[in-house]
Amino acid sequence: TVTLSSLVTWLSRFRDLVTENRNYLTELDSAIGDADHGANMARGMAAVMEKVGASPATTADELFKSVGMTLVTSVGGASGPLYGTFFLRFGMTAGAVSEFDGAALSAALRAGLGGVVARGKPELGDKTMFDAMSPALEAFDASVASGGSPAAAAAAAYDAAVVGRDATTPLVARKGRASYLGERSAGHLDPGATSTAFLFQALAESLA
Ligand code: ADP
Ligand code: MG
Ligand code: MG
Repeated sequence: TVTLSSLVTWLSRFRDLVTENRNYLTELDSAIGDADHGANMARGMAAVMEKVGASPATTADELFKSVGMTLVTSVGGASGPLYGTFFLRFGMTAGAVSEFDGAALSAALRAGLGGVVARGKPELGDKTMFDAMSPALEAFDASVASGGSPAAAAAAAYDAAVVGRDATTPLVARKGRASYLGERSAGHLDPGATSTAFLFQALAESLA
């Protein structure tokens, strides 16, 4: 089983990855957006970990409600409400528990993805974070369904997120700021799909 403390490790590892790659994410966003994705994610996750450290939660619903609210309120860009809603829905579906099996984790992640869809209306191929997140969850579920451990499922999800991320390069953006560029958005990796690959890298590492 996966403990709440492994999920706190997930969050702190995600914070570390977006902080270490802050300039890289901002570079990607400078090509097709407004050059703030690295700053947005690093600021948001720093605020999240400060909050988590100051008032440690004992259940998943409590923890992820605070994570989601902090992202929604501390990140001005599109990514704040999108990741914020992801974690809010993750927590609501996880409920007042402190341990997860693969199926529970899968249901919570799936609800999180539903939150991103509700908020941003992304479809596959729109060149957004959804293009990394959706295949990641398909891979996670397939692994759990075939008896894989949460760690194995997270590793599979990360691999799929990377493939989905890389597949955003040739796409023309249909959502978010990058869509204002039309055809000129093609030929660049999507910044949000890149941070989403870090989200699954962090999950894989924290469950390994
Ligand atoms: P902003 O575009 O407001 O500056 P960020 O730069 O932090 O916000 O985040 C941009 C990322 O948000 C994009 O690379 C894309 O992955 C994601 N994004 C933008 N709009 C949407 C949407 N409608 N649905 C899903 N993801 C989106
Ligand atoms: Mg931006
Ligand atoms: Mg912005």
